[in-house]
Amino acid sequence: MTKDFKYAVDADGVATITWDVPDKSMNVMSRDGFAQFDSMVDDALADDAVKGIIVTSAKKDFAGGMDLNVLSTIRAEAGDNPAQGLFDFTMSGHHILRKLERAGMDAKTNKGGKPVAWASPGTSAGIGTEIGLACHRRFVADNPKAKVGLPEILLGIFPGAGGTTRLIRMLGLMAASPLLLEGKMLPPTKSKAAGVIDEVVPADELLARAKEWVLNATNADILKPWDAKGYKFPGGAPYHPAGFMMFVGASAMVHGKTQGVYPAAKAMLSAIYEGALVPFDTALKIEARWFTKVLMNPSSSAMIRSLFINKTALEKGAVRPDVEDQSVKKVGILGAGMMGAGIAYVSAMAGIEVVLMDREQAAADKGKAHVEGILQGGIKRKKTTPEKAAVVLGRVLATTDYAALKGCDLIVEAVFEDVGVKAEVTKLAEAHLGSGAIFATNTSTLPISELAKASRNDENFIGIHFFSPVDRMALVEIIKGEKTGDKAVAKSLDFVRQIRKTPIVVNDARFFYANRCIIPYINEGLTMVREGVNPSVIENAAKQLGFPLGPLQLNDETSIDLGVKIAKATKEAMGDTYNDSADEVLFKLFDEGRLGRKSLSGFYNYNEKGKRTGLWEGLETNWPHADDQPDFTDVKHRLAMVQTLEAVRALEEGVLEDIREGDVGAILGWGFMPWSGGPFSWLDILGAAKAVEICDHLAETCGERFAAPALLREMAEKGESFYGRFGPEASAAA
Ligand code: NAD
Repeated sequence: MTKDFKYAVDADGVATITWDVPDKSMNVMSRDGFAQFDSMVDDALADDAVKGIIVTSAKKDFAGGMDLNVLSTIRAEAGDNPAQGLFDFTMSGHHILRKLERAGMDAKTNKGGKPVAWASPGTSAGIGTEIGLACHRRFVADNPKAKVGLPEILLGIFPGAGGTTRLIRMLGLMAASPLLLEGKMLPPTKSKAAGVIDEVVPADELLARAKEWVLNATNADILKPWDAKGYKFPGGAPYHPAGFMMFVGASAMVHGKTQGVYPAAKAMLSAIYEGALVPFDTALKIEARWFTKVLMNPSSSAMIRSLFINKTALEKGAVRPDVEDQSVKKVGILGAGMMGAGIAYVSAMAGIEVVLMDREQAAADKGKAHVEGILQGGIKRKKTTPEKAAVVLGRVLATTDYAALKGCDLIVEAVFEDVGVKAEVTKLAEAHLGSGAIFATNTSTLPISELAKASRNDENFIGIHFFSPVDRMALVEIIKGEKTGDKAVAKSLDFVRQIRKTPIVVNDARFFYANRCIIPYINEGLTMVREGVNPSVIENAAKQLGFPLGPLQLNDETSIDLGVKIAKATKEAMGDTYNDSADEVLFKLFDEGRLGRKSLSGFYNYNEKGKRTGLWEGLETNWPHADDQPDFTDVKHRLAMVQTLEAVRALEEGVLEDIREGDVGAILGWGFMPWSGGPFSWLDILGAAKAVEICDHLAETCGERFAAPALLREMAEKGESFYGRFGPEASAAA
């Protein structure tokens, strides 16, 4: 067994429990680790020579949280009663942290306990913070990069090691809400202001300050408010008039934000509400019950699998070819427009030297000014300092001179979406590059293998498809052309790692992966408008599925003219097989000059500040609402299934090679129902048989585009799931 924790007692009788998981840059809690921690707490409490305890970390941070793979192991070990296994495990965690919190004090007098200080050198998330909350005083080093918090909700669970029950009793519902319900991580000073931690101290004094406190703490200092007589719930418990208002409001707010599709938020609120009515130890048991319930919900397993386990695996190179390190040192970006400037920003932020090129100096300068604008925003929000921003901006050379590309090991081309223009710049750039340089195009619609023809070496030619706005979107789609070699793939993946985004690697086919799925989603919305479905029903159905934007709003954001351009090009390429069911609506808006948010008019009306003020009345004039509105579930199924089936077809056709990429890419790329874990996870939650049933019904009522792909039908017949069939290692959390 590796030693995740170290234990030492100094001459003054202060025991230090130091977390330092071997071979990891960040501590994560394993089962063994928790057992070691438990026995060290026992040792310290049992040893009369020990006067108090410091819990700290030997790393630059305290902890990243729980190793979430543990949950699936426990579930599997518990055999036919996984809920019992998960509940028992959760309760054992409560016992350990409660023991630490009570620290040997007498149950009646609350006296005689040993002071426990938490000394965190940096970031602490999840169980790391929950350990801190169980300690008596929390010290965090004055480390501006550090963040303290409980981000579990973002993974579809909630803090289940007492963090929920403790924080709510420390801060009350109102103050704890952003931390618990939104998973906000705060820097040390803000964390102190919020009341989560007690002291922010210089890093080199961290342990000394904690020790000083431990040696001087009194019985009163180490008694938690909820263990003292007369404890009152801050802001009022549920039956207190003020508390009542808050709990009712919180419930409505959570439902409004989650649309009821995220089980964790609702379960956490129930744990808080019910826990607030009973003594602390009973509240912990209630928290454990709700936590178990959430863990038993397939949505939480799917979210953990996609948003934590597989996202991390892809970022760490799960699909990277075995080629030596290809980190980028100097990148040339062709085209300093919206995308090029964004790519320049993320590259310069990653410490990469950037040559930002355009046809005219003014355009190149405009691109650099955009980079500066994002940096200025960062300074305003205190994300960076003027000095650091100046260093980042200094890495960007704005030019029209191709010779400046000399020495670039990667080119990202982001000029106009035109084969001729792209071919021309490819040739001009390659004349100045070394033979090993990789050439990537950011095209959204043009086949990579076609564009590669302009290159002197199609093995070194690849697609790196960013999403807009580049600085905010986490996904990057890497597209292999027919001849693209391993080195180009490795280079692209290393670049994406450097700029701290999440990659998926797909093969070359129309619209690659993400746009292939998004376009049918938008088109389905437009088709329903044409059929006379009330547009607010369409938009609300999407929202209730958990999509960030309904299809009509999404079309306004991406712009109607872009939609028209894509529709025309697709029709030309597909001929008779082209489905034009959305075109009437799309072209009508285009003809009316309603181009979307950028023209302050589209499916929605906008005020002069660009704020949506309601759906455009012309929708109803042009396409009157049908008397017979469809079943709401059918509307939801149409919107979700039309894109999910594209994902399945992409897999069938080999565009997608890995369902993990299909799921992670869908959530990060276009916000596909995050609660579901992605399209393949959603089909697994539904079950292939049920999915086929939905497809059959929609194919009959709405058209052939809903016909179940052969793969799905076969899986239904065999009783298979996607993760069972395609992703043994990826199914760890299932
Ligand atoms: P844009 O029009 O904002 O920028 C294109 C830039 O390329 C302009 O500054 C233009 O002056 C420059 N340019 C044109 N011809 C050039 C030449 N011969 N030499 C040097 N510079 C030249 O366009 P954009 O939205 O940034 O898109 C660029 C590329 O990225 C396109 O291929 C587009 O399909 C793709 N893309 C766009 C998005 C998006 O949401 N806008 C998303 C993903 C990919």
